[in-house]
Amino acid sequence: MPQDSDIVALARMIGEANYVVVFTGAGISTESGIPDFRSPGGLWTRNAPIDFSDFMRSHEARKETWRRRFNMDATLREARPNRGHRAVAQLVHDGKVPAVITQNIDGLHQESGIPADQVIELHGNTTYATCLDCAQRFEIDDLRIEFERDGIVPHCACGGWVKTATVSFGQSMPPEAMRRAQKETLAADLFIAIGSSLVVYPAAGFPELAKRNGARLVILNREPTGLDPIADLVLSRSIGETLGAAVGVD
Ligand code: NAD
Ligand code: ZN
Repeated sequence: MPQDSDIVALARMIGEANYVVVFTGAGISTESGIPDFRSPGGLWTRNAPIDFSDFMRSHEARKETWRRRFNMDATLREARPNRGHRAVAQLVHDGKVPAVITQNIDGLHQESGIPADQVIELHGNTTYATCLDCAQRFEIDDLRIEFERDGIVPHCACGGWVKTATVSFGQSMPPEAMRRAQKETLAADLFIAIGSSLVVYPAAGFPELAKRNGARLVILNREPTGLDPIADLVLSRSIGETLGAAVGVD
């Protein structure tokens, strides 16, 4: 791919920065085959999200939540990090990026080789489940077998409901991840928001905070976002080839 002016500008900004924070959304994983929420045809258009209060209140809501999760299972299990993930991992490896803040729940940043303690998961992780009462961990495969064979909706011996280790709409944000994300955001002199529509708060507050704190803000997303007007550089193009070319990763 030719080094056009967008890519040269992004590479230069990365080169000039001392502390780069990368913030990712579902868009970085679409090239790995995982649909996002808000692209045309994305998950949102097919299934409105189930609120946490409904999950707690209703057996049917829990069953539907798990049915959707198991429907996505093959896609999630087969997904591998793509060129965008690899480019971010390279920046972490080079010491340019001390932390990746992600809204994603797919674990692909960790799978791309970024140490788990450098990935801040704002919305948790869907590759395993926990009891909402006693926090015991459950593996998705075991739960799926019981669900498919016996129609059993996952629950714990303690009586608690079992849910993927994700943060649902209506569920409180993980305090430690929020604290770390804020600290990293305030340390950044360059903040790169990648593949997020930037409409889900409080997550979308971080790029805004970075900019207000004096960092340069880059937005890489093929559709417009609400923060485009305050960004220093907006790249409305696909993630893998853009980031791959700017970082020099195939
Ligand atoms: P979103 O779906 O609201 O927005 C994704 C954005 O990425 C869209 O604006 C789209 O135009 C852009 N995009 C998609 N593919 C792209 C590509 N290849 N190149 C450039 N741009 C591309 O995502 P969000 O802002 O992360 O919010 C969705 C919420 O849903 C998150 O909180 C997340 O937890 C959850 N979610 C996660 C996953 C995942 O883990 N992979 C998938 C779906 C939803
Ligand atoms: Zn329990």
